[in-house]
Amino acid sequence: MISSAISVSEPFSFKDKRVWVAGHTGMVGSALVRRLRQEDCEILTVSRKQLDLTRQSETETWIEYLRPDVILVAAAKVGGIAANAASPVDFLYINTMIAMNIMAAAAHAGVGKLLWMGSSCIYPKFAAQPIDEHALLTGPLEPTNEAYAIAKIAALKLAEAYARQYGLSSLLVMPTNLYGQNDNFDPQASHVIPAMLRKMHEAKSSGAETVSVWGTGNPLREFLHVDDLADACCFLMKSEANLPLTNVGSGDEISIRDLAYLVADIVGYRGEILFDTSKPDGAPRKLLNCSRLASLGWKPKVNLRSGIDELYTRWRASVRQFEQS
Ligand code: GDP
Repeated sequence: MISSAISVSEPFSFKDKRVWVAGHTGMVGSALVRRLRQEDCEILTVSRKQLDLTRQSETETWIEYLRPDVILVAAAKVGGIAANAASPVDFLYINTMIAMNIMAAAAHAGVGKLLWMGSSCIYPKFAAQPIDEHALLTGPLEPTNEAYAIAKIAALKLAEAYARQYGLSSLLVMPTNLYGQNDNFDPQASHVIPAMLRKMHEAKSSGAETVSVWGTGNPLREFLHVDDLADACCFLMKSEANLPLTNVGSGDEISIRDLAYLVADIVGYRGEILFDTSKPDGAPRKLLNCSRLASLGWKPKVNLRSGIDELYTRWRASVRQFEQS
């Protein structure tokens, strides 16, 4: 059982620590690296080519060689609703293997502290809203991302078991839906914000009169900018509270319909928005209750409109750069 007690432990400092960010090229990992540059620590990274985290012996050898004091685990197979439906094996297998391998190797090498990234999809589909940490394993999961959720639940249960049996100290962070720099804009694999930005941008450029958005438009989603997540992770690491499982959200909840209108406005797309009900809605709502984190004094900074606006500007710049190269 995850304890709800907030116990107090020794204050943690990044000063002079060797901090390995596993998965540093992804959206979350790269945000962690940017945020850690403000700390007085040595940031360690390794490319996917050099280390395949689904291989136990490679992972063990690497951690033995690297000897990090701290590991922030952002490495994961992630994707939107369509990618999850298309590749459940990848989402379950890769994410489970990454957790098993890093956890075993870290315990063996005596790593001091780890941070694991979960997701709001670990909670039951019909959990009471806003969802608090105690909702875990109280009901069936949303089927469209069950494989990913099971892998993340296995990882957090494994972290609890390693804490109990070997004293390995882990923080378990459960972010709400994320977006931001280095987001995936692949139309099939992406999450909704980059998918809508791309669709509406292309529709505007081609003069298309309609754009099709998946589902009914009714689901509600809470969105958190990835820079806010990275800041919350560093805050939690340094906080003296010993929180076993912590939700990280923004409170910025919006329907998919209103999100579509917001993205159209940001992009300057003036055509009609159609809702394709042959595509899945996924979870009806997944707003996180973040009172644990708020009680420690952390607040998100990036507002949804300005965060999407910034992402759109960055993406257009990268497309221009790609076209010129
Ligand atoms: P989810 O939170 O796991 O469902 O992740 P997504 O970001 O993939 O989807 C969020 C919601 O946006 C779902 O209700 C989707 O049906 C809806 N949606 C609307 N248009 C799109 C789209 O073009 N791509 C994606 N990924 N989702 C979309």
